[in-house]
Amino acid sequence: MITVTLIPGDGIGPEITHSLQTVFSAAKAPIKWDVQEAGLDGLEKTGSLVPDSVFESIEHNRIALKGPLATPIGKGHRSLNVMLRQRYDLYACVRPVKSIPGITTRYTQVDLVIFRENTEDLYAGKEVQISADEAHSLKVITRQASTRIAQAAYDYAVANHRQQVTIVTKANIMKLSDGLFLEACREVSKHYPLIKTSEILVDNLCMQLVVDPSRFDILLTENLYGDILSDLAAGLVGGLGFVPGANLGTETAIFEAVHGTAPDIAGQDKANPTAMLLSGVLMLRHLQLNDVADRIENAILSVLSDPNVITVDRGGSVGTQALTQLICRALGA
Ligand code: ATP
Repeated sequence: MITVTLIPGDGIGPEITHSLQTVFSAAKAPIKWDVQEAGLDGLEKTGSLVPDSVFESIEHNRIALKGPLATPIGKGHRSLNVMLRQRYDLYACVRPVKSIPGITTRYTQVDLVIFRENTEDLYAGKEVQISADEAHSLKVITRQASTRIAQAAYDYAVANHRQQVTIVTKANIMKLSDGLFLEACREVSKHYPLIKTSEILVDNLCMQLVVDPSRFDILLTENLYGDILSDLAAGLVGGLGFVPGANLGTETAIFEAVHGTAPDIAGQDKANPTAMLLSGVLMLRHLQLNDVADRIENAILSVLSDPNVITVDRGGSVGTQALTQLICRALGA
């Protein structure tokens, strides 16, 4: 048994993490959950958005699966998600975005992996109020952080038999910051002659992705562009309910769906747990538990390929619990 920190989180978090626990138990995955409350729930129960026990658990287990965490707006709180990524130096945010058979969109052959630098850029939290009418945000780009996210993307390309890495910037305008990111990525690319490297400006990429996403393979980019592109790419494959993610550091890994807390549908059995379940599959593969990862992924895909199974976010009536039960049945439970 491997012990994993499980943070149910806020909004739809408890519903989708419960779904994940149910499916993992049906698949007899050798995972023991160390459940930790954080976010607004944690605040109510313990007086702290992230109680110390959460950090202790992550530092002990070094692997966590988390639901979305809400960040109270305008009370001086920094985003908890950003804080966890910075605290554990989870520098690589990896988001595979793939067409799912049965989830019909305008596109059938999307198979992208977004590599988003996760620790700096405009998310470094360096903001200054100049006057009542002026505020500045500092965009921080370093060669070290750019180089290691590039290395992660190229190593992944080699390990997963990918053909192409596209470096995404706005280096024509932000010549120093994006220019440095581009330069660092180009430098890394020289060590991977078998992987094709291309470069694109982020605005052009948005248009190209909507026209023909099948042209792209791995997208290597900074923090803010990666955040926005992840949501755009999710739309290509059916929405935020379908895209998983991993935040990887050298010592710690935290797996989570791309979507947020979805407060508009929380507690109504409407959330699509697929993104969370696929994040769990990514975690199992990270732990080299490939057999059980395959079984869970196949069960999810077989259930979603049934044309009668339409989740609420796709305009159907199959809610969180019903989808969970169908997946458990497909697992033979
Ligand atoms: P954040 O700032 O935390 O990203 P947000 O409100 O901007 O939060 P999301 O919480 O991701 O963004 O929600 C965006 C929209 O997508 C909402 O309408 C939400 O209901 C929907 N949504 C997000 N995740 C899911 C899901 N798993 N299942 C169904 N709908 C979802």
